[in-house]
Formats: sequence, structure tokens, C-alpha cells
Amino acid sequence: MKHRIVVLGAGYAGAFSAGFLARQLHGDDFEITVVNAEPDFVERLRLHQLAAGHDLPHRPLAEVFAGTGIRLRVARVTALDVDRRRVTLDEGDHLGYDTLLYTLGSTIADHGVPGVAEHAYNVAGRPSALRLRARLDDLGRHGDVLVVGGNLTAIEAATEIAEARPGLRVTLATSGEVGGWLGPKARRHLLRAFDRLGIAVHEHTTVERVEQSAVFAADGTAFVSDATVWAAGFAVHPIAAASGLAVEPNGQITADRELRSVSHPDVFVAGDSGFVVGGNGRPLPMSCASAGFTGQQATATIIGELTGRAIKRTSLSYVGNHVSLGRKDAIFQFVDGDARAKPGALCGRPAAWVKSAIVGTSGWAISHPTFGKLDHHYRAAAGAPSRGVLAA
Ligand SMILES: Cc1cc2nc3c(=O)[nH]c(=O)nc-3n(C[C@H](O)[C@H](O)[C@H](O)COP(=O)(O)OP(=O)(O)OC[C@H]3O[C@@H](n4cnc5c(N)ncnc54)[C@H](O)[C@@H]3O)c2cc1C
Repeated sequence: MKHRIVVLGAGYAGAFSAGFLARQLHGDDFEITVVNAEPDFVERLRLHQLAAGHDLPHRPLAEVFAGTGIRLRVARVTALDVDRRRVTLDEGDHLGYDTLLYTLGSTIADHGVPGVAEHAYNVAGRPSALRLRARLDDLGRHGDVLVVGGNLTAIEAATEIAEARPGLRVTLATSGEVGGWLGPKARRHLLRAFDRLGIAVHEHTTVERVEQSAVFAADGTAFVSDATVWAAGFAVHPIAAASGLAVEPNGQITADRELRSVSHPDVFVAGDSGFVVGGNGRPLPMSCASAGFTGQQATATIIGELTGRAIKRTSLSYVGNHVSLGRKDAIFQFVDGDARAKPGALCGRPAAWVKSAIVGTSGWAISHPTFGKLDHHYRAAAGAPSRGVLAA
């Protein structure tokens, strides 16, 4: 009986990790199944571009995983039973596992603000980004777009929409400062870009209620809005918390340095779903880079544990953020060892080239998850065969 590894989610963390496992582990001893809600790999890094009207490359997961031995199951995970080692899918089906890698990513955090679910758009997933695009198409060249949030996604969404749809009036409202974490050079550059694109900014403005054509803030400001884009942070899916896994107050799975769940040692986590302390002693931010670092450590641990090899320690770093400001402008903000922005930053067109190269490279890497190599050389260690008796 083969050892069943199930990977939940095929985003940046899941697709990369599944490919790496398939490359290293022997197919006679291990069976790798990936479950993903959508049939395609979704480049989340570019969903603000999709919403603004740009088309993204089509990357069917069946093609991505072709020839790797990975079994793809296109289905939505609705529940997880970590005691019986069983995943429930939306078709009512169950999937058993011996080792689970949880990489279901994140979605928007609505912070309990009334009206967000009913009236706001977002760019956290492809279906929602396409709904926003359809709304912007309906508006044509006239209308008000309000972006709520002041962090990376809000900045990227506001600038992308303002650049691609110059007839629309774009406003950003945030409870803090827009890009408040940036160093002085980067923030100056950001504010100049907002000016150039005609984006109005309301800082220290906490949105309390969203209606179909208006948004209300705690200080009494009322915004007219034909399309409200909610980009006020990410939250993880409630599936992990409901499963009985140890989670943080925000629902992220609590993991040890080796990316193992602290409550269930046969469950591993990578990407946005995990609460992982980085090399600087601080929680890694939800980001594509963190998905890469955590995926590398989780797969190194799984391979070590199941094949009886020493577990390799890989880096869990956080070096900074890249923020695009439309198609030709960007900011690359590096941080110091305490995750504070350094005074300098790469800004403008060179930063846009770097960002485009990073996005292109990550897209390529995901489309070639085994890098064309299938070594398959690691066999299961004695004592690490299927524990599958409990699963249905
Ligand atoms: C518009 C936008 C721009 C961004 N820009 C940047 C950036 O410039 N730099 C950066 O570092 N980060 C950026 N991020 C954040 C980055 O995209 C995430 O941190 C990254 O995608 C996390 O990877 P992940 O694998 O954990 O999750 P994801 O990439 O979201 O993958 C999760 C996968 O799980 C699947 N899934 C979810 N729920 C279920 C379910 N119930 N059943 C089955 N499958 C499910 C999803 O379909 C998806 O394929 C951006 C995010 C957005 C939305």
C-alpha cells in the first residue's frame, strides 16, 4: 500500500510543493494527490491586473501536472477531519490521507463590516476579480471607484484601475496611512504616483458600512461609489479552525519551525494558511515569497520524515515587498532584520521590470513544477508506510 500524500490547494505554495514532492519521492511508495477548487493555476499576484482588464495566461493544472504522476482532483474542500485523516469535498466525497499538506491560501478579511459581502468587490480570487472587471466594463468611462485599504493589494488595485480606466474617478480610503510601512523614499514615490494617476486619498478614515452605491466612514464621511473594492487585508478559510487543528486567533494553522502542525504531526502547512515564525523571529507575512519559503521547508520536512533522511532546514526569510503601480511603475522596498523598511528603495521603471521578472519567473516555475526532472529516488523508510487504517 502506498503512502498517501494529499496536498490541499494548488496555488503558489501547493503547486510548487506538490511538484517538488513528485520530483523527489518514488512513485512505487508514494501517491500524491492535489485537490484544488479551480481547474487552472490562478496567478493571484496578477488578479488586480485581471480585474482592470488585462488577460492572464491560461495554465490548466492538468497540463501543469502532466507526466509528474500527481493525481489532480478538481473539487472544493468543505471540511477536514484530522482525527480520522479524512478530507470532505463539495461533491460529498471523502479523501483519505496519511500525510496532509494544507495550502488553501487566504481570502478577504471583511472585519465584520456590514455590506461588504453583499455590495463590495474584491481581487482576492479569480471569480471575484472577474466580477469586478464586469462591473468596471459596465461603468465604461464614467463612475466612482472606491478602494478600501492602504496596504499592498489596495495600492496595486487602485493604481491598476486608475491607469487602465482613466475615465473613472478612483478614491482610496484607509484607516491608517497609505503605504505607511514604506521607507521615506518609497512613500514619496507612491504619493507622486497617486497624484499622477489622479487617485484621491483619504487616510485615517475607517469604513463602517458599505451600501450598493455609497460607503460610510466612522468620521461621518460618505463616499459615492459605483464599485467598492474591498482590499483591507486577508483572512484564512475557517476550514482549518473547524477541523480541530491548533490555530492562531486569526485562523492560521500554528506550525513549528519545520512547518508541522503543532497539534497534528501528520499535517503540514505552507503559504498564507500557516502561522510561521521566520528567521527574524517575527511571523512571516502572507506573501508569494513566504509561500515559496514555507513550501520549501514543508516539503523538506515531509521528505525527511517519510524517507528516514535528516530533515533539511531551509531559510524562512522576509526581505521586502514589491508593489506595482500600474504597468510601468513599481516600488521594491527592502526591509532590515527587524522587518522595518530600509530608507532606500528601488522605484519607477527599473522596479517595474524587476517585479515583472519575478512574476514571470514564479509563473514559469509553477508551470514546470518538477523543473523537467523526475528523480523519484527517495523510497519510503521502513516504519513510514501507510497509516491509512483510519481513513475512509
Ligand atoms: C491582487 C493580489 C496581488 C498580490 N500581490 C502580491 C505581491 O506583489 N507580492 C506578494 O508577495 N504577494 C502578493 N499577493 C499575495 C499572494 O498572492 C499570496 O500571499 C499567495 O498567493 C499565497 O500563496 P498560497 O499558495 O498560500 O495561496 P493561493 O495562491 O491563494 O493558493 C490557494 C489555492 O487553494 C485553492 N483553494 C482555496 N480554497 C479552496 C477550497 N476550499 N477547496 C479547494 N481549493 C481551494 C485556491 O483555488 C488556490 O488555488 C497578492 C495577492 C493578491 C490577491
